[in-house]
Amino acid sequence: MSPERRPAIFMDRDGTLSHEVGYVNHPSRFRLYPWTAAAVRSINRAGWLAVVVTNQAGIARGYFPPSVLEEVQQALVDQVAAGGGRFDGVYACVHHPSVGKAPYRADCDCRKPRPGLLRRAEEELGVDLSRSWVIGDRHSDLVLAWNVGARGALVKTGYGLGELQHLAPGWSRPPDLVAENLLEAVESILSGEAS
Ligand SMILES: [Mg+2]
Ligand SMILES: [Zn+2]
Repeated sequence: MSPERRPAIFMDRDGTLSHEVGYVNHPSRFRLYPWTAAAVRSINRAGWLAVVVTNQAGIARGYFPPSVLEEVQQALVDQVAAGGGRFDGVYACVHHPSVGKAPYRADCDCRKPRPGLLRRAEEELGVDLSRSWVIGDRHSDLVLAWNVGARGALVKTGYGLGELQHLAPGWSRPPDLVAENLLEAVESILSGEAS
């Protein structure tokens, strides 16, 4: 690893940065959590990379066109910027392995927990994955982290609390960190408490 490579905090979108409301098929359905901009600001200030990684199979399923995803991602970026935070990268998988039409119906390498989005960020942003974390509200976000040798934090927002109560006893590996929400997770990671 070259010395200038930086660790990243990869963040899931729905249920982690913003309320889990099902498919966000219109920008009006997108609602950021009130602590999200503060969390991203903390990542910026620490000199880590702040990167969004989201599965948006609603595109492959034909529920909404790519232009809507672009609008919603722009709303995310703008609302976080209004709170003083900046994302270094925003990545989405728009595929589904068995539903919809080409090019969105695809057995891609980027649908989480497959590592394609993280590998792209590694290449494009100079991420040091071994020092990086993924924060998400689903077990698959943790598996994504572990698939690249990073660590995984589960937040209790979105699906997180239910996954923790009903599913976690069956997981072969526990989360590296459990936090109430994104801000608490980011603060634990950056303070070194979580490692
Ligand atoms: Mg989620
Ligand atoms: Zn994909």
